[in-house]
Amino acid sequence: MSANPKQAREDHFERDMAQYRADFPALVQEVNGHPLAFLDSAASSQRAQPVIDAVTHYETHDHANVHRGVHTLSQRATESYEGARESVQRFINGASTREVVFTRGTTESINLVAQCFAGPRLSAGDEVLITHLEHHANIVPWQMLCERTGAKLIVAHVEDDGSVPAENVTSRFTDRTRILAISAVSNALGTVLPLDEIIPAAKAADITVVVDGAQAVPHQQVDVQALGADFFAFSAHKMVGPTGIGVLWGRETLLDAMPPWQGGGDMIETVTLEKSTWNTLPYKFEAGTPNISGAVGLGAAVEYLQGVGMDNISRYEHLLLNVLTEQLEAQGDVRIVGTAPGKAAVVSFLMDGVHPHDLGTIVDHHGVAVRTGHHCAMPIMQRFDVPGTARASLAFYNNRDDIDALVASLATVRKLFK
Ligand code: PLP
Repeated sequence: MSANPKQAREDHFERDMAQYRADFPALVQEVNGHPLAFLDSAASSQRAQPVIDAVTHYETHDHANVHRGVHTLSQRATESYEGARESVQRFINGASTREVVFTRGTTESINLVAQCFAGPRLSAGDEVLITHLEHHANIVPWQMLCERTGAKLIVAHVEDDGSVPAENVTSRFTDRTRILAISAVSNALGTVLPLDEIIPAAKAADITVVVDGAQAVPHQQVDVQALGADFFAFSAHKMVGPTGIGVLWGRETLLDAMPPWQGGGDMIETVTLEKSTWNTLPYKFEAGTPNISGAVGLGAAVEYLQGVGMDNISRYEHLLLNVLTEQLEAQGDVRIVGTAPGKAAVVSFLMDGVHPHDLGTIVDHHGVAVRTGHHCAMPIMQRFDVPGTARASLAFYNNRDDIDALVASLATVRKLFK
């Protein structure tokens, strides 16, 4: 046992967290003759075995269409689908399942808000405020809307270290600011935005707040009621769940006041050839047969994450983030892009004289998966005057070996390119 009790506790915690790696079958493989070191979870995380099992069980035994059938399988499918909604509501502390709309993911959730909430409310000269570090999913829908309505897109400044002090956002509020659309955590830089300061100021100024929570939900406990935003969007596939399913959480009063998103089955109450009326929340926004197995997988994912504990995940990922950052800083020829204090599990970096794509290709030869390019956040790459970066992103199933593998593979990159 370590002589230092604090260190002994840390070691114990790290060993405890290491057990979860075994729940991710995709991590147990060799890639190009090397053990896989998967450092691309910000793009999409791996699936936990309980998620795979829940989806397989549903597909094998329970599949039928939801909400419409009196027969047993339809009832089971409906229970699974609505059970997943309840799990999500508890996970994010929504006030009611009526506030939890299943969508295809973050992108669709933000587009839904832009078109159905903001669209009817914006007029020429109104302002939509975003930050310079947003993912394209939280830029383009607003650009499209501004083009249609004559509203203006205003961009809050990001500092040289990638941080966004609250003042950078709140100082851009004007009496025409109608919407603030903002990330909780940047996928490109790992910056955690000070939403606890920004949102109360926005609400005091009567601004509707839309949070892109895609990179927050996998890494920290989210409580939508405590956060105080109006809408919150996230994707299952970044939080050990399946692709093609995500969530739009919204305040019930706002969702209620919005027109439907798409027309079709399930979102109606009555249809005549002259007129249709709309279903209650959240079904008003879920036209057509939904992604039932995706919802089942998402439900299993949130149950699994709660079992691990979001505070444990956050603590362990910070430990790994510190190790990764220190190791990259020690390389001498590596520059980290985005060094804001209190970052989440993402390190974007450049190696002197090496294009990020070349770096990504060579490290893949060593079984190391990192993402290279603009990370769907071109404006922040332009802000830092780089074409792109290499990005290593962590999840709680990573370990120190993954980081060592990345660092060792960088030595080969250096040999080949310098
Ligand atoms: N917002 C952020 C911050 C992201 O990281 C991503 C995905 O990379 C998205 C939005 C878009 O998510 P999706 O492609 O699942 O809709």
